[in-house]
Amino acid sequence: MVNIQTVTNDAINVLKDKIQVLKATEGSIYLVGPIRLPVNLHGETVIFQWYCWLNSKEETEDIGQIIDNLSSANLAEYQQSSVLVYGDFQQDEEALIRMHSICHTGDIFGSKRCDCGFQLKQSMQMIVDNGSGALFYLANHEGRGIGLFSKAMAYILQENGSDTVEANEKLGFVDDSRNYSDAIEVLKALRSKPVTLITNNPKKLKALQDAGLSVSGRTPLWGDVSEYNESYLQTKINRSGHLEEAGTFLHD
Ligand SMILES: [Zn+2]
Repeated sequence: MVNIQTVTNDAINVLKDKIQVLKATEGSIYLVGPIRLPVNLHGETVIFQWYCWLNSKEETEDIGQIIDNLSSANLAEYQQSSVLVYGDFQQDEEALIRMHSICHTGDIFGSKRCDCGFQLKQSMQMIVDNGSGALFYLANHEGRGIGLFSKAMAYILQENGSDTVEANEKLGFVDDSRNYSDAIEVLKALRSKPVTLITNNPKKLKALQDAGLSVSGRTPLWGDVSEYNESYLQTKINRSGHLEEAGTFLHD
């Protein structure tokens, strides 16, 4: 018969140096990693260091207790966020970061209704080309924080004349309810030097600065404009304060 305690002790010994317990606004963040992750990026194999985190209402430093709770926590019913780190992220002077909001349709299916899938791969490439950086994949940000099911309804409203912002508002959501506080705590655990943020959204830059992130600059990311996402991108500019970079967007 297998002794459960022995098995758990074995897991604790292997995992204890790979789990950090961080303070969150409420409760704790358990950060696990790094894990070597070879990734196919535009046909080349690139080695990232992957970390995943779990937000918990408990505040325990006891790794055994954290492990004990896993099997009953039903984690597959929820999404967890994670981060892909490239290069010497802790020490390099110039590091690029991207706070990428999960997009089931864009990232997984390659939907062209938005530019998320393109932005995901493009920001990973920019980080690799820079030599150092991190891509945060934020799991509670689907549809600007409204969730996948509500996003499906919002898409139907959009097919019937609403823009992205109006559709969310008609369903009772504020336009953008995304929160970055846990991601910032994770970033602080991985790097203390300033970062350059990959974004077209000055509001996002300001939100991150207000939340205590040390930002040295912003670098834009546009592309993949098509007939399917033109009005979505134009709404980002007209309604959500995204900057239009000269020469990189809109043909007319
Ligand atoms: Zn998307």
